[in-house]
Amino acid sequence: MDKRKVVIIGSGPASYTAAIYAARANLRPLIYEGFFSGTAGGQLMTTTDVENFPGFPEGITGPDLVENFKKQALRFGTEVLTEDVEKVELKGHPFRVIGSKTEVSAETVIVATGAMAKRLDVPGANEGEYWQKGVTACAVCDGAMPIFRDKPLYVVGGGDTAVEEAMFLTKYGSRVYIVHRRDKLRASKIMAEHAEKHPKIEILWNHVLKEVKGDKVVSSVLLEDVKSGQVAEHPAGGVFFAIGHQPNTRFLGGQLETDEQGYLVVRPNSSYTSVEGVFAAGDVQDKVYRQAITAAGSGCKAALDAERWLTSKGLND
Ligand SMILES: Cc1cc2nc3c(=O)[nH]c(=O)nc-3n(C[C@H](O)[C@H](O)[C@H](O)COP(=O)(O)OP(=O)(O)OC[C@H]3O[C@@H](n4cnc5c(N)ncnc54)[C@H](O)[C@@H]3O)c2cc1C
Repeated sequence: MDKRKVVIIGSGPASYTAAIYAARANLRPLIYEGFFSGTAGGQLMTTTDVENFPGFPEGITGPDLVENFKKQALRFGTEVLTEDVEKVELKGHPFRVIGSKTEVSAETVIVATGAMAKRLDVPGANEGEYWQKGVTACAVCDGAMPIFRDKPLYVVGGGDTAVEEAMFLTKYGSRVYIVHRRDKLRASKIMAEHAEKHPKIEILWNHVLKEVKGDKVVSSVLLEDVKSGQVAEHPAGGVFFAIGHQPNTRFLGGQLETDEQGYLVVRPNSSYTSVEGVFAAGDVQDKVYRQAITAAGSGCKAALDAERWLTSKGLND
């Protein structure tokens, strides 16, 4: 069985940054980039323009940015396997990482498997329809795009994230509607009050999104009033899903501590998980920021933590 000092699971900005640091520290990192578990390369593979990653003043497409990350990691000797990790055994040390085709022994493991933004499967909102043509799952990432300027924008959801996204979008849209299926927001009281009082935000209580329509980009939405059953068409420039994220942790089989939403718990100011020698980076442990740059920064932390941990255990020779 192949023996590794560092095995990195996942393939977004967190994973590749961890790999760049680990490879430059001569730790011969091995990445499992995934296959069926999500899009190899991570969430950025599903977006067009990334305008807020430093170093690219003209912006860069998500897939090009990921390709750059990967090239840089490969340049320093990272190896990448295009397969899913199906299981890990973290009880004994070294750990065992079991992929769909291979199995390796690992002194340290960095979990960087990200989180999936939940989307509604309604007509018009999918890939090949208006997804990324006015429908998105990240206001902070996409809200400033010209297609949303001075248009009515719809945020679907009712928690803190939905309110935060709506507030953010008030800078760009002509008006922002929160589409919520109940008659009360799940957001914290203070956030709900902000939304209710905001002059540019209107909450559409007891409504659900039924369809997204458009031409080249989104131009309207069909909303159903769940109380009356009436469906009406409203002009729209954008639809933002804010219905939560699902951290990709199932393959861990509950061996690492998670919070109530399934995010990995790390010790404050570090990437240490509940098992010594296992580190976490990126969106899988971050429900607050969820940006490419914060994922990359935490990947750097995880690689430095892993290297220092190996040294402290006399395993870094
Ligand atoms: C539509 C959209 C647009 C966005 N735009 C921006 C933007 O403009 N700017 C910005 O900063 N952020 C943006 N984000 C957020 C950004 O993409 C994420 O914060 C970032 O990608 C998180 O990186 P990550 O490394 O934690 O993991 P992810 O990018 O989530 O990647 C993790 C990957 O790990 C792999 N994986 C999962 N499970 C396994 C397994 N068991 N075995 C092996 N591999 C596995 C999968 O391939 C998965 O895709 C956007 C997100 C979305 C959804």
